[in-house]
Amino acid sequence: MKQLLDLTFDNRFARLGDDFSTRIDPRPLDDPRLVVASPTALALLDLDPAVAETPEFTQVFAGAQLWDSAEPRAMIYSGHQFGSYNPRLGDGRGLLLGEVVNDRGEHWDLHLKGAGLTPFSRMGDGRAVLRSSIREFLASEALHALGIPTTRALCVIGSATQVVRERLETGATLLRMAPSHVRFGHFEYFYYTRQHQLLEQLGEHVLAAHFPELLATPEPWAALFREVVERNARLIAHWQAYGFCHGVMNTDNFSILGLTFDFGPFAFLDDFDAQFICNHSDHTGRYSYSNQVPIAHWNLAALAQALTPKVAVETLQESIALFLPLYQAHYVDLMRRRLGLQEARDEDQELVERLLALMQQGGVDYHLFFRHLGEDQPAAALARVREDFIDLRGFDDWSQAYRARLDAEGGAAADRTARMNAVNPLYVLRNYLAQQAIEQAEAGDYSEVRLLHEVLSRPFEAQPGRERFAQRPPDWGKHLEISCSS
Ligand code: AMP
Ligand code: MG
Repeated sequence: MKQLLDLTFDNRFARLGDDFSTRIDPRPLDDPRLVVASPTALALLDLDPAVAETPEFTQVFAGAQLWDSAEPRAMIYSGHQFGSYNPRLGDGRGLLLGEVVNDRGEHWDLHLKGAGLTPFSRMGDGRAVLRSSIREFLASEALHALGIPTTRALCVIGSATQVVRERLETGATLLRMAPSHVRFGHFEYFYYTRQHQLLEQLGEHVLAAHFPELLATPEPWAALFREVVERNARLIAHWQAYGFCHGVMNTDNFSILGLTFDFGPFAFLDDFDAQFICNHSDHTGRYSYSNQVPIAHWNLAALAQALTPKVAVETLQESIALFLPLYQAHYVDLMRRRLGLQEARDEDQELVERLLALMQQGGVDYHLFFRHLGEDQPAAALARVREDFIDLRGFDDWSQAYRARLDAEGGAAADRTARMNAVNPLYVLRNYLAQQAIEQAEAGDYSEVRLLHEVLSRPFEAQPGRERFAQRPPDWGKHLEISCSS
């Protein structure tokens, strides 16, 4: 185990130079305090969890102290926001502090969100609020525990710094980790500013640092794009299968590594609703739950456009055409597992669609349905979940088809339960759970955030005494409006 200040840095992105990012120091928060830290994220840096309790840790991640070998920089990028191109975005309130190399030789970007003004702050204040920092922390660590590709979160630091949003709020920082912070919007920036030399340099960096195996293929850039398509198909299949809504799928929030990236007004579904819109500024539902699939496809086309100086259009189109079938195959595979089925059959997609249509009529909690379906013998489990459906005849028909599948596969009931419990979480980051923890944290009590984080880090495992985290939301918690200003 290392001491915090002993981390080793290798700042590859910084070395690309001033065309890619601007050197700037963080502006520290006043009177900083540790809100929460992730032991598993600390382990990625070879740090012991106890390190988080030291004053030094709080100072460093409040932006008040730096490693000598860190090189804080604001990255330049652009992107399509709600379908319109914004030529200049960039890190307006976050800094890439540097890239830590751990004992396994992995590089981890340390990105400090809420670190103060940068040349890209535009009208903003460079700050992040405690509320949204806690939401990002909990969501990234919860998604990771569910097995969904995501950026990680090391810690949240609270403070006495006040920031103005719709109301006066507490300023905070979040330390985000990822192997890379390169977004689709990085490529778009150099493409639309016609700096093709720099576009080339960016792609060479991404290939060498993150996809070295592709350098040996005949067309590394084409292979890179194809890999991004495949990773996104897998990512979005996970979002859909687990009911995660991102909320702001702009191309500047899309990672070249296919990670869930930039958490804003995200939400997990409670009751199943294909039309659910978690972002209250999204008046047309561009980023609704069911639109996440076509929007990811759209974003890949936006990235492809930026790669046209390097890859033939037909080649890019061939890869884009793979997205929907790849997505569908991953999605049905995940859903089949969630239903406890082991053999792939042609009719599986229809079985899933029929179930979701029945759920859509209302009243069925998306997460508990799957958990409860697996927890008992099929007949008893189906009788239990049946009570929540409105179209009981429809559900009975579906149950028959489902049971026929189970019977045909055979196998012991206990095996089925173990299999299903391993993929169907009991604990999900429901908006109202986050909200309760945030309200307590805003009043200075961080115990609920820490407990919720701990519960969500083992989402598949029943945790005695923590039943309250595995309930359906109370009525007041069902349709919370989450402020988008973060
Ligand atoms: P986001 O909504 O967090 O994805 O941010 C979109 C863009 O706005 C990025 O360029 C951010 O850096 C910038 N931004 C968001 N909030 C702030 C803020 N409080 N101060 C400065 N820039 C911000
Ligand atoms: Mg963003």
